Amino acid sequence: MDDSLERVASEVRICIKCPLSETRTQAVPGEGPANAAVFFIGEGPGRTEDEKGRPFVGASGRFLESLLRDIGMDRSQVFITNVVKCRPPDNRDPKPLELAACRDYLDRQIALVRPVVVVTLGRYSMERYFPGAAITKIHGQVKRIGEVSYLPLFHPAAALRSDAWRAAMKEDFKLIPKLLSESGRSGL
Ligand code: SF4
Repeated sequence: MDDSLERVASEVRICIKCPLSETRTQAVPGEGPANAAVFFIGEGPGRTEDEKGRPFVGASGRFLESLLRDIGMDRSQVFITNVVKCRPPDNRDPKPLELAACRDYLDRQIALVRPVVVVTLGRYSMERYFPGAAITKIHGQVKRIGEVSYLPLFHPAAALRSDAWRAAMKEDFKLIPKLLSESGRSGL
């Protein structure tokens, strides 16, 4: 059977591949159009996301939506997901075993959507493409691999706690339309 985003989401919703399945309320597969040009990867669901089964729907999500509005886009145009699909208890960092167990779902989502801009939010998704780097040093520095541009940004939750990081994130976001234009793709 051909793979699909719906199939990945169905598998995620009943997944018991790591211990996060025991403490989650709902798994959060991610959402967005199958042909999204921009693909955001966060860390893991927080409390509100765990309750609603949707990514970035709390304060971080509202900030992300305002950043998208600033560049003339909205969340219906982008794919949004996380490196782990179930909430780590008390919002602790995901553990290596959990990241490894969940990795295949994200790999499949990216392979299916085939975005031209992949935006990492925070250090756990940054680590996939910029191993060993420090987000404070490399945020906003684009790496191009083939047709895809990888853009490391602060996590919105971290940016909300720091005026300087919030300003940096707003500035870094302006790269997204530029990268889309260079790729020849519009927002969708
Ligand atoms: S975090 Fe990922 S691997 Fe772990 S139970 Fe949830 S979906 Fe499965």
